Amino acid sequence: MTREELIMACTCDIAGKVRGKSFPASQLEKRLKRGIGWTPTNVQITCFDNIAETPFGSFGDLVLIPDVAATMRLPEEGAPSEVLMLGDIRHTDGKPWEFCTRSILRDALARLEYVAGLTLNGTFEHEFQIRGEEARPGTAFSSAGFREWRAFGETLIAAMRDNGIAPDTFLREFGPGQFEVTMDPSQGIAIADQAVILRELVHAVAARFGKGATFVPIRSPDAVGNGVHVHMSLMDSDGNPATHDPEGKHELSRHAGQFVAGILKYLDAFTAITAPSVVSYLRLTPHRWSAAFNNLGFRDREAALRICPVSDISDLARARQFHFEFRAADAAASPYLLLAALVHAGAQGIEEELDVPEAMQQDLSLLSPQDLAASGHKRLPQTLEKALDAFAANDTVASWFPEGFTDLYVKHKQGEAAIVAGLDPEDQCRRYEEVY
Ligand code: GLU
Ligand code: MG
Repeated sequence: MTREELIMACTCDIAGKVRGKSFPASQLEKRLKRGIGWTPTNVQITCFDNIAETPFGSFGDLVLIPDVAATMRLPEEGAPSEVLMLGDIRHTDGKPWEFCTRSILRDALARLEYVAGLTLNGTFEHEFQIRGEEARPGTAFSSAGFREWRAFGETLIAAMRDNGIAPDTFLREFGPGQFEVTMDPSQGIAIADQAVILRELVHAVAARFGKGATFVPIRSPDAVGNGVHVHMSLMDSDGNPATHDPEGKHELSRHAGQFVAGILKYLDAFTAITAPSVVSYLRLTPHRWSAAFNNLGFRDREAALRICPVSDISDLARARQFHFEFRAADAAASPYLLLAALVHAGAQGIEEELDVPEAMQQDLSLLSPQDLAASGHKRLPQTLEKALDAFAANDTVASWFPEGFTDLYVKHKQGEAAIVAGLDPEDQCRRYEEVY
């Protein structure tokens, strides 16, 4: 039997799932122009595949146009490669569809450029776990752990390199079968494209090793979480670093300080985007090295936003190293929506000319509610429901997204939450582990 290569044109949707349709590779040229047919209601398919309340019903037609710049290719011995191409959803007249996550990120990046002439440089740091691995004492960060998973790691690194993703580190993290993988920064829309492709590569490479990988935010209520940390810096129109100012507060440039301030000011109102699952809120609790407050930390791995260290012995200049990291996110979020929320919040901070917050070196979970309020900080929402309420109630955050998006998103998430309502947290984690 012979096989003919198929290419899958995809979107990474509100649920953070990669969905689409495939076509014979020989049709690529045609599909790059015409795309494939797509349906508005697909946006309300939750991560559990139920369809949440939809304003579109059975109506409407869209096209999903693959973008060769966002291709994932994984060679397979003796068979055609596995090829996915991420793309944009458009109306049939060619205009971007309002609820295309990739177009939403494009709008956010355009706003940053417009308000401050800046572009975003960044990369997603991912954690994931191999399913079914039990805790084995002595393997976290260890040479034994490295040796056992070296072939998997080396295959993943090669696959990243083949896909234009510059690998940075691969490590056997703390949790059972847990890994962290980092990559070099890229710019603009490619930051999110690469995050989506990385996740797909991890799943595909794990499958080739006869394993299942999961990016579930947390595998059980007592476990360590799988975080997504978004590393960001700003660049001017000539591609020069624009985040560092040796004279600025915490060495942040004026715009970078305002950007950071915007993220922290609005964070509790957009946590529903960055930590979008029911179980995300088991991870966003103190002492898990994730984030529980809207705080800026200086080298603090429990701060929502951390100014990362710069090294005097690096071959890179201080201004090129200098950046900050957002830690209150997980892989249930579409990288496009997550990044769009961060960029809008940052641009909002620049527009409002916000003051740079204090950087904390303090465990905020030890403060009384009064002292916490006096410190100017807030606990992030503690359930998805509360996060959605805060999202729906904030007109500024709503204005960042297309008309109707807030309502659509809340309905989507309510439809998702209904599937795990009434389950105990352990079972909720299990359900999410199956789909992420
Ligand atoms: N696992 C932690 C999280 O859920 C992060 C640990 C680390 O700092 O890499 O975000
Ligand atoms: Mg880690």
